[in-house]
Amino acid sequence: MPNNLVYIVMDSCRYDSYARAKTPNMDRISSGESRWSYASWTAPSHHSIFLGQVAHKAPTRVLASEVYKQEYALWVDRLGIPDLSFKSFVPELSLAKMLQRQGYRTVGRVSMPVLNPFTPFSRFFDDYQLMSDHNDFASMVDLVEFSAEQPSYYFFNLGETHYPYMLKDDSLPRISGVHGVVNGMDDAVMRTSDDVDGEAEFFTPEDMVMLHEQQIKCVEYVDALIEELLAKCPRDTHIIVTADHGECFGEGDFFGHGPVMHKKVFEVPFLEARRP
Ligand SMILES: [Zn+2]
Repeated sequence: MPNNLVYIVMDSCRYDSYARAKTPNMDRISSGESRWSYASWTAPSHHSIFLGQVAHKAPTRVLASEVYKQEYALWVDRLGIPDLSFKSFVPELSLAKMLQRQGYRTVGRVSMPVLNPFTPFSRFFDDYQLMSDHNDFASMVDLVEFSAEQPSYYFFNLGETHYPYMLKDDSLPRISGVHGVVNGMDDAVMRTSDDVDGEAEFFTPEDMVMLHEQQIKCVEYVDALIEELLAKCPRDTHIIVTADHGECFGEGDFFGHGPVMHKKVFEVPFLEARRP
């Protein structure tokens, strides 16, 4: 039977937030590296992920078509299916469809409304839902169940690491300052829109530092849930953990991602391996 596949996208998690977080469970899978996303925001980046592309290494002196060919060949080892190539993805150019063709049960859970089931992203999933809360990786982990008869593909888009970097369960260790920061940011936006003299106020450098710290804590929260997830995965499960894009915390006077041209919005963590 081919390997199971678990593909985790920590939405908006920039590389250094991952690198600074304590992630003992992700470390058990593999040490993550800095890579580059194909886009600066959720929808186009997930389009390339759903095509079967992973975050790239920005190789020099090589044709893009060669890089794509090598990238697609990596699915052979990930899945343990010997004859996979780019042709296996034709004509739909869909990772989920290719896996369905190989007999997989395909399950998607997403946290960002832009990926909701009415969009083309849900195509070729046997079971695809937008989570009712944007920060509920815990419920995604709960639903994971592998079968001895059929390989599974679980795709998870996580909102915990997306602004406002808030965690669901109040019984978790209190994350100091986040509510204050979020309220403060709303105030800052109001001040900006009310401003008539062009003296717009933006988030302070202190807000940015606190928000960045908050994203790091959310990565640590996700990592703790990955321990539960790993305990459920059979040995023949290939796991990928990455992000769809990064985030700016004040660099270049940007906050967030999307219509932003900055290195920090493209730099993402990437790690993958067979279940440890
Ligand atoms: Zn995103």
